[in-house]
Amino acid sequence: MNNYGIDIWGNDNFIIENGVVKVNKANKPSLISLVKEIRSQDYKGPLLLRFPHLTQGQIDKLYTLYDNAITENNYQGSFNAVFPLKVNQLPNFLIPLINLGKKYNYGLEAGSKAELFLAMTYNKIGAPITVNGFKDKEMIHLCFIAKQMGHDITVIIEGINELETIIALEKETSLPTPNIGIRVRLFNQGSGAWAKSGGIDSKFGLSSTEILEAFEMLEKNNLCEYLTMIHFHIGSAMKSIKPLKNALKESGHIYAELKNLGATHLNAINIGGGLAVEYSQFQRTAQYHLQEFANDVIFTLKNIAKQKGVDEPNIFTESGRFIAANSSVLITPVLELFSAEYEAEHLRLKEHNPPLIVELNELYNDMNSRTALEYMHDSIDHLESLLKLFDLGYIDLEDRSNAEILTNLIIKKAIWLLEVDDYEELQKIDNKIQEKYLLNFSIFQSLPDFWGIKQEFPVMPITHLDKKPTRSASLWDITCDSDGEMEFDPKEPLYLHDVNLKKEEYYLGFFNVGAYQDILGMRHNLFSHPTEINIIFENDTVKCEKILESQKIIDILEDIDYDTNEIKDILKNKLDDNTYKILNRYLHDNSYLKTTWS
Ligand SMILES: *Cc1c(COP(=O)(O)O)cnc(C)c1O
Repeated sequence: MNNYGIDIWGNDNFIIENGVVKVNKANKPSLISLVKEIRSQDYKGPLLLRFPHLTQGQIDKLYTLYDNAITENNYQGSFNAVFPLKVNQLPNFLIPLINLGKKYNYGLEAGSKAELFLAMTYNKIGAPITVNGFKDKEMIHLCFIAKQMGHDITVIIEGINELETIIALEKETSLPTPNIGIRVRLFNQGSGAWAKSGGIDSKFGLSSTEILEAFEMLEKNNLCEYLTMIHFHIGSAMKSIKPLKNALKESGHIYAELKNLGATHLNAINIGGGLAVEYSQFQRTAQYHLQEFANDVIFTLKNIAKQKGVDEPNIFTESGRFIAANSSVLITPVLELFSAEYEAEHLRLKEHNPPLIVELNELYNDMNSRTALEYMHDSIDHLESLLKLFDLGYIDLEDRSNAEILTNLIIKKAIWLLEVDDYEELQKIDNKIQEKYLLNFSIFQSLPDFWGIKQEFPVMPITHLDKKPTRSASLWDITCDSDGEMEFDPKEPLYLHDVNLKKEEYYLGFFNVGAYQDILGMRHNLFSHPTEINIIFENDTVKCEKILESQKIIDILEDIDYDTNEIKDILKNKLDDNTYKILNRYLHDNSYLKTTWS
């Protein structure tokens, strides 16, 4: 039975049992039971389920990995972690994360002023804050204010000018000076799709000449005591461990050199983020084991410290994707299968039909499992010829409709006849016989990385898993944009079930969507975020909390700065009261589709 690669990307967070996907926790509720409960409260359209217990699991895992490595190597430095806010700043994700991380002193990383405000407000006092990205004087001033509030904050400078601003502010204000970190521009490039974050021509960091210059400036201004951290980030979703090892060596030596130059308070190396998440349903992408990764970090830094005779540095990490990705699942209702319109009852066969139609009809009636493949190919050829005849004016619209219906019937029958065989036979014909599934969601809003960088996400039906899926599927969203499609890929085929949506519901789940997607999502066609729910496990019972309904149309329009009173006035003036009342109700709905059950 097809398990959609759940053993590759699923982390044991979800299991397939009795034909449905279940959450592998407590009494193992099925996703469909959660979906039904939420929908019974009249929330329709796509749903985003967040699972804080999975965030907790990842935080626990991260700290355990490094604890193990530290113990094993008798390492003297400490392990510290911060969550990079850019990965997911939404309150329903972030506030639980902060609470779950308290016992570890898990901190936050900010890359903009707005994110810094969040960190200053919600970060636990005493848990670290790191600040990356380009900064102006105001942003650096905010860091001084955060320090004044009692935060353990480190400003990581991206350039000499930022250090100049710190020095100026230190003189101008009476506020306490935050710790200073230096982002180093490494010679060693990262790996993975985002490798541009590292490397000699990277957008970020100081070259070795600039590092020396920065240190001299700190000395000259008596600020050496504030220099505590060396930082690098070689990119997201690292595929292999080698670039990290190279970066560790390079930055480890920079750390040791600076210490030996007199940076007495320098005590930490921040290795950035980049731990990979498995998104593929077909093969693992990360060529390392997580424990091996942590061991390598500790072992490499220990050796450099020993070689250069300096203290073993404390370690900071900023992995975000690893913490957040698996914590949410997007559930999309299937609205339509496009071949559904080609049912036999719609045939309008005449007394005298064109010869090719007669032949199609015979193929349909005569085919058996031995001839299925051949007849199917013949039917596709016939359809192509018939469409040409239509363009030339030789057959009419009814003939054309009959041709389309018969060909579809033949294809479906062929798949049904071939079902006894394995997928390989089907794979040979997949390209021609895809079924198109229309899903009630927007790819631009909910899976922006698929649109932007062709990032794949695990997808599978959440029910029907005790039946063999027989339709090679391409997925369409409801935006009016041809990019809102996930095409069938014969190399990594997606098979779904042949369902009758008049009789049964069918939902697809997209997994590992918790990192980056929420905030990168865009309102193309004015589709807003789906309805979100936090799924909480408490004493073995499961609860749906913090339901945040998808935005109402009127609010979406207000968000893009329309005067909604004007909109209402204009519409009201042109309609009678009763019609306007109905219209007003529609304005207060969300923008996803509402068919009988979706
Ligand atoms: C984006 C970013 C991270 C997080 O990267 P992940 O791949 O999500 O772990 C960490 N640190 C910095 C400086 C970043 O820019």
